[in-house]
Amino acid sequence: MLQRISKRELIARTLQQTGFDRMLYQARSWRGILILNYHRIGNGSRSSCDRNLWSATAESFEEQVRYVTKHYDVIGLEDLDLALRNPRGRFVVITFDDGYLDNYTEAFPILKSYHAKGAFFITTGFLDVPSIPWWDEIAWMVRRCPLEVLPANRWSQESIRLDYDDRESVIQMLLLAYKKSSVEQAAGFLSELADVLQTGRAPQRIAHELWMTWPMLREMQQAGMTIGGHTVTHPILATLTAEQQDYEVGECLRRIRKELGTLIDTFSYPVGGQSSFNIHTRKALEKHGVRWAFTFIGGHIRPRQYDRFALPRTAIETDINAPLFNALLTLPQWYA
Ligand SMILES: [Zn+2]
Repeated sequence: MLQRISKRELIARTLQQTGFDRMLYQARSWRGILILNYHRIGNGSRSSCDRNLWSATAESFEEQVRYVTKHYDVIGLEDLDLALRNPRGRFVVITFDDGYLDNYTEAFPILKSYHAKGAFFITTGFLDVPSIPWWDEIAWMVRRCPLEVLPANRWSQESIRLDYDDRESVIQMLLLAYKKSSVEQAAGFLSELADVLQTGRAPQRIAHELWMTWPMLREMQQAGMTIGGHTVTHPILATLTAEQQDYEVGECLRRIRKELGTLIDTFSYPVGGQSSFNIHTRKALEKHGVRWAFTFIGGHIRPRQYDRFALPRTAIETDINAPLFNALLTLPQWYA
């Protein structure tokens, strides 16, 4: 991942220095729809939560929105049909996953000021009973751990030093272990980790500062934003039974529909890789009237070549600087 980014960055810088990106832009080198995916906006560098969730600072996000609205057709999801039927256009869609509060406080005002529409995929359980998601709680525990050395445990065969500042590599190791857990293992994962790290579970007050509220979402919807589903509890759907998946999809859409009063027909998969959803997920989406479902697999949608339940999205992360962002938009076939 790191290697890929630095190579992308190198190419982006070269392109910018030579003015080649401008030439390629003018050559209109791609057609279709490029969907950008964000999670949190702001400065997470001192947060006790999972800092990888921050996609851009407010300043970078504004720069990115300014760039895409100037050079591309930025569309809302209600225009997806039209865009897919237009073989000549180049469209950009801006999406957010999970439902973090900064989507409302930071991203929404910027989108409005550029008259850009965005789509927000919501984990309804996090809003209804404010709770701390596993990735943020794992990060919180590791940072709060009073130990200087973590003895060998079920996640690591060797002891791990913790006597340095950000402990980021330990957090990443544990997040990966959680993602690979079965449903049964995942259930006990956080309590067991809280014991091993001697931190206890994260305090509930953190959860009350994390998420948007239904009135905020109603305001966003009235301003032209699309609200879509992202499950009730944010599980990796493919690890669940068909019945459990049906609940996660159906109940999530029902909650949003009840609060916002409109039909909800868009959905994004938690985690979102190729193995995060399966045939049962597709059946549940079909049954509950979802028209478009979005992955976390990179790339852009080419006209007439798409799977409506596996639409690719390109992750925007804080290490994507302005030259790389411009290169990504200019040549998504290389960078996205
Ligand atoms: Zn998510």
